[in-house]
Amino acid sequence: MLRKKLPFLHSLLSPVSRHVGHLTGHQYDVIVVGGGHAGTEAAAAAARVGAETLLITQKIHTIGALSCNPSLGGVGKGQLVKEVDALDGLCGRAGDWAGIHFSILNRRKGPAVWGPRAQLDRQRYRDFIQSELLSTPRLTMVEGSVEELLVTEPNPEEPGHHRVTGIRLANGSHAISARSVVLTTGTFLSGSLFVGQTTSPGGRIGDAPSSAGLSHTLRERLGLRTGRLRTGTPPRIVKDSVDLSLAKLHLPDSHPTPFSFLNTHTHCKPEEQLPCYLTFTTPGVERLFHHFLYCPSIESRVLRFPGRSHQVWLEPEGVTSDLLYPQGLSMTMPPDIQLRLIREIPPMRRAEIHTPGYGVQYDFVCPTQLSPALQVKSTQGLFLAGQINGTTGYEEAAAQGLWAGANAARSALSMPTVTLSRTESYIGVLIDDLVSRGVTEPYRMFTSRAEFRTSLRPDNADLRLTPKGFEEVGCVSSVRYQESLRVRNSLQDALTALQALFLSTSSWKKKLPSVPISETKSTLLTGLDLLQYNDVTFEMLASAFPESLSSFMEFAQRLKIEAVYKPHCDLNKKEIERIQREENMSLPQDIDYFSLPVSLSDEVREILDRVRPSTLGAATRLEGITPAAVVNLLNYVRVTE
Ligand code: FAD
Repeated sequence: MLRKKLPFLHSLLSPVSRHVGHLTGHQYDVIVVGGGHAGTEAAAAAARVGAETLLITQKIHTIGALSCNPSLGGVGKGQLVKEVDALDGLCGRAGDWAGIHFSILNRRKGPAVWGPRAQLDRQRYRDFIQSELLSTPRLTMVEGSVEELLVTEPNPEEPGHHRVTGIRLANGSHAISARSVVLTTGTFLSGSLFVGQTTSPGGRIGDAPSSAGLSHTLRERLGLRTGRLRTGTPPRIVKDSVDLSLAKLHLPDSHPTPFSFLNTHTHCKPEEQLPCYLTFTTPGVERLFHHFLYCPSIESRVLRFPGRSHQVWLEPEGVTSDLLYPQGLSMTMPPDIQLRLIREIPPMRRAEIHTPGYGVQYDFVCPTQLSPALQVKSTQGLFLAGQINGTTGYEEAAAQGLWAGANAARSALSMPTVTLSRTESYIGVLIDDLVSRGVTEPYRMFTSRAEFRTSLRPDNADLRLTPKGFEEVGCVSSVRYQESLRVRNSLQDALTALQALFLSTSSWKKKLPSVPISETKSTLLTGLDLLQYNDVTFEMLASAFPESLSSFMEFAQRLKIEAVYKPHCDLNKKEIERIQREENMSLPQDIDYFSLPVSLSDEVREILDRVRPSTLGAATRLEGITPAAVVNLLNYVRVTE
């Protein structure tokens, strides 16, 4: 499924995209504002669902730009990429096209928490995303800055409830109508950049912030609560100025594992992958950090754990790039101090900085004001995704973007919105955490956030999500759907065949003499039981029983993982069913918690009134909600259902 080559994008984009006048008065189903990781997935998903979609972004050529680290995936984040791919999103396939160093992190732990990750070539990633969007039917892209959201006055029947009707561009002259709008403005909402004590307006280096008008509409017109967050990026280092012989060479996996379920190999050949290098901070780094402290929230890793040396990964920025990205060294100090600081690290004693590190401070919208479809509860048709919701990271943005875009399209096309539960996906965990708990610092995904991580594995994201994406959401192509059915049926047939191999331990010993089969185990074992042994592979079983198993060799690794996790997943099943029942018990959005005739403390009533959880499951996870309150709510919902 990997393409052979990409079209020459910039020549294709410029004529269609630079003039927006002809769009005035046009009615779109969905307008997506922002062409970052959330916006590109949102626009593509909305169009896949069937909506006439317009993507408006400040600079066409930055669509799909990696603002910070040149990498995708990792522990927790890799799971999100696999899930976005299972729902037919872009980032997994883009990673397979642009990856130049693939590795599975956490390999020493179980496959449930493996973290698929790749270093990326920045230009290739951007090219792939742009090319995909260009070839997406029903999607138009224009360059422009959105200044204002057009919304109706509150409905007197439902005080405080607005409906979005479109957007107005920065020059004030162009208004474009839409039934749904997805805002994905990243770090640009009232963004200000800082280096040392100098601050300047900006959303990212070289880019202006979103106009104040947008923040004004959100806060003043729609009454949304916003907060302010900070993030930072390290300086980019001139590669030739670094003595890499003083750092530890870190090679990629010899067989790169693609992110996408549709790909069997990556664009970069195994032998063409580039290495990374590992080095460490020194006491001199710590001393300088303490001495020139500008932004503790960013320059904090060294400060929070004094006396330790911290890993600094020197990562390539691309195949032809002359730069290295020193992962782990985010800093906002003045450039001369940044130079002194990096030169405290042996391989960088003579290093030159190409672009200094900097920080950005920006507005985010408190995400407890969103529904699980990522729609603003008080404004019909307005969806938010990505950094604007208080998250950080490309993967978190992409996951929300896909879900918000699909729902924005469904809402515009008068179909009910859809939700993902935390029992079925990391995307469900991410959204549930955001809308029910909110954020106090930039939210990023960790595997520890997912209670059912042994079931929500990277290897089975297609089984969990592709059928739902096709049958219920409408964001998955039939090609991918058919492929997922083929895989699901083959895996089921293989598991049945393994279970049908029902032999005594002595027969197994004869068949597999090299495997130490314990006598204390049951005297009769199935092939599936045996596959749970550490030293038994599917290949071994297939060579012992070629007639029943050899046709499933393509799935050898997946079957091994399925077998290993089967006992955990069987245990999880009951708990998941219970939670799903609770999840499905919806709490009416117009409920008056202050007069609810059940025993709830004033504090609990206040929390419920403020957050308005949409399900009982979401209410359970709110901070300050006691188990007793949940039982009382449950009884109330049962009676009224
Ligand atoms: P973005 O990728 O920022 O995209 C927003 C898009 O919206 C941009 O294309 C912008 O031009 C467009 N836009 C904004 N306003 C308007 C408007 N009014 N009209 C039209 N278009 C508009 N992530 C990490 O995981 N770890 C880190 O350490 C990290 N550090 C970072 C440091 C810095 C300085 C920055 C800038 C980002 C950092 N990131 C980091 C964050 C990562 O880049 C984001 O999480 C991710 O890009 C968010 O995706 P997004 O789609 O929400 O926003």
